[in-house]
Amino acid sequence: MNIRIRGAKLLIYREGTFTVEEKDLYIKDGTIVSVGSENIDPADLWEDVHAENRLVMPGLINMHTHAYMTCLRNYADDIPFAEWLFDRIDPAEAQITPEKAYASNLVAFAEMFLSGTTTYVDMHMFRGMSPKAAEAAGIRAYIGRGLVGGDLYKDGLSRFEEALSEKEEYESDTIKFTLAPHAIYTCSPKFYEQVSEEAEKRGLLKQTHLSESRTELSDCLKQYGKSPVEIMAETGFLEGGAILAHCVQMQGRDIALIKGSGSTVVTNPASNAKLGNGFAPVTGFVKAGVNLCLGTDGPASNNTQNMFREMSLLSLIHKGITEDPTALSAQEVLAAVTVNAAKALKMEGKLGIIKEGALADLIFIDLLSPSLFPQNNIVSSLCYSASGSEVSDVIINGKFVMKDRKLLTIDLTEAFHVIS
Ligand SMILES: [Zn+2]
Repeated sequence: MNIRIRGAKLLIYREGTFTVEEKDLYIKDGTIVSVGSENIDPADLWEDVHAENRLVMPGLINMHTHAYMTCLRNYADDIPFAEWLFDRIDPAEAQITPEKAYASNLVAFAEMFLSGTTTYVDMHMFRGMSPKAAEAAGIRAYIGRGLVGGDLYKDGLSRFEEALSEKEEYESDTIKFTLAPHAIYTCSPKFYEQVSEEAEKRGLLKQTHLSESRTELSDCLKQYGKSPVEIMAETGFLEGGAILAHCVQMQGRDIALIKGSGSTVVTNPASNAKLGNGFAPVTGFVKAGVNLCLGTDGPASNNTQNMFREMSLLSLIHKGITEDPTALSAQEVLAAVTVNAAKALKMEGKLGIIKEGALADLIFIDLLSPSLFPQNNIVSSLCYSASGSEVSDVIINGKFVMKDRKLLTIDLTEAFHVIS
């Protein structure tokens, strides 16, 4: 059935600015076919969805997480980074079963829907579990099997083959795959070069963790005499636009190299703060014109998947550390979680925007929520006032996955049982 959303306020992006306009929205076969009522075939039938007192906006795009780690939420907190990773998370991660990974994904998606996320970029460890869960829930996914090694065709081969066969088996309209080398401390420069060649040959997106901590930077300088970003540039990994999570420790030409390559920085303010890794030079990225996106990182290092909280943190942290209230405006933050993310995913005009021809990935915000009232500035309220609890409905690929905060595709009872 085709959907006509009536009476809503729409968040429209035009010429670099978000505005709010009252128009009907027409959705057919998963795509927005009209904003207003132009070009509507009079023979088409429409199911009316009444959305008075709702803001209808593009679903949020979480550009970096590890959804399978939900079972480790709040498992290891308030301890040093090395202890967190090597003594607590790594051994616990080794105990995760495929069944737990699947259930963890479902719980993460439920949290994402309830806080307005419709697309996520995932790096995982369990072949088939992320795409199967994503398919069941109806979320839009960009998935990458975490790759590690010195040589992609030797010690890295089994994981690489897993990544390719997973794509072969599960790719669909809503589920896409990426190549995801883990980080410079688990993959050699040669490995990054090989992954870059494979990504180009196969037309795949690339994602990695980059310069997350001081230790990563100093170890890399010691071992290779270059920063992690310089290695990414030299190995060709930045070419064609890679998705670079964290980018906290930048030095020298790093920002210019990222900007020159057209790659995307995904900042993860909560994760970087929680793990004591510091703050990425986000205003430096913005000033240089780098495409900036936002991610939560996994539930073990954040500990939520709530992008509204992340949006607020992004803006407030950088206003605070730069002592500049004009830094990271609400408009810039909204762009990071919508149109900038679409650009990084090579889906400009299709994702993260309400316009004719775009995919119908939409969330409804209840404008009668006390936290959003009165509506002096709706764009501001999304960045500074919303907590995610104001999201009432979620549509992905033209289908409702949540109505009146009721999840339609996820049964949490079983998933909770598996990971409790
Ligand atoms: Zn990560």
